Amino acid sequence: MAIIIHKYGGTSVGTPEKIKNVARRIKKVIDAGNEVVVVVSAMGHTTDELIDLMHKVTDSPDPREYDMLVSTGEQVSAALLAMALQSAGCPAVSLTGGQAGVVTEDIYRKARIKEIKLDRIKKELKGGRVVVITGFQGIDSKGDIITIGRGGSDTSAVAMAAALKADVCDIYTDVDGVYTTDPRIVPEARKLKHISYEEMLELASLGAQVLHPRSVEVASLYGIVIHLRSSLKDDEGTYIGKAPRLTSFARGKEAGKMEKKEAVRGIALDENIAKIGILHVPDKPGTAAKLFGALAKGKINVDMIVQSIHSQGTLADMAFTVERTDMKRAVEVAKKIAAELKAEGVVSDPDVSKVSLVGVGMVSQPGTASKMFETLASEKINIQMITTSEIKISCVIKAEQGKQAVRALHKAFGLEKVA
Ligand code: ASP
Ligand code: MG
Repeated sequence: MAIIIHKYGGTSVGTPEKIKNVARRIKKVIDAGNEVVVVVSAMGHTTDELIDLMHKVTDSPDPREYDMLVSTGEQVSAALLAMALQSAGCPAVSLTGGQAGVVTEDIYRKARIKEIKLDRIKKELKGGRVVVITGFQGIDSKGDIITIGRGGSDTSAVAMAAALKADVCDIYTDVDGVYTTDPRIVPEARKLKHISYEEMLELASLGAQVLHPRSVEVASLYGIVIHLRSSLKDDEGTYIGKAPRLTSFARGKEAGKMEKKEAVRGIALDENIAKIGILHVPDKPGTAAKLFGALAKGKINVDMIVQSIHSQGTLADMAFTVERTDMKRAVEVAKKIAAELKAEGVVSDPDVSKVSLVGVGMVSQPGTASKMFETLASEKINIQMITTSEIKISCVIKAEQGKQAVRALHKAFGLEKVA
């Protein structure tokens, strides 16, 4: 008997009808002779609503009480789903993270999961019940309820799959998989059958908001395949992690492509960035450390960093990007450090976006970067900053040209064609 892990996101359990629908789906899996553990998010926008409610009571919420409050959303959906299962003739029990043995670090609001003690879950499964567990939470060493960060139910589910030694974690959501790019920008965007952990991590942190990035980290650590799929259809979605065995693919329509994998798998657009530059910084040891040390101290996340040299060799310009909401604070910090370093000045620009190509095959296929630059040039899009890694190339461009860039690149790299 296999243990199957399902996770349902907020929209998938957003209404009583949808909850009954989920119960029907789970019943089918049970009737086929499996054991099922389900992890649920809060219904719809419940968590946001709880946080709004909190702000009406206080401006400075106590972290312990924050966790106490926001963890209730998942309890509602878990209990309702257990009831829906019972009504469908399927014995079921709901458990909070704590009851299910999910032990976290002693950090309110954003703890990591330390371990999952399986005794209770195993007992319930043995009794023939579907176990419905609240995502997003566990308990700490004091027995306090702890949440694990917004969007964390994905991570709860993958951790559960790892603890129960399942091979696959099915994550049901309101999209039917991972696409080559946002289909709202490029209608021809194609659903990927498979994507590696590395590629998914890049895409998730580049703004493709389909999965909690930490869930991908946990999956890669324990070799769990995530199957991201729609809760409204039976179709397969996207497998994240190990590729499905290629034997059936290798024949038939994919024959002859044994080593020919597209270099670029996905394109991400981050429209939430701003660019800051410090001009004519004296080029000597310690300047970057000073600037970025000060930004880190201010808890400002810096993404791209570019330093360019001047012909005299004694001065440099430094440019970096931050989240747009952090721009004002970052400029204040940069101005202070610029004055201390006797730099010429600080400039900033919120009207920028970052477009990125992602693909593990890029490292072995030269020409991807130049093709990206040519494509942008032919669209008359100026590149302001460039960074590259083995599996990613990112360019900062004018914000208003972001979507145009994604469309042109999607076409240039032939991503609409079935792989
Ligand atoms: N309900 C939580 C949130 O909205 C956790 C989740 O949905 O994954 O952040
Ligand atoms: Mg989510």
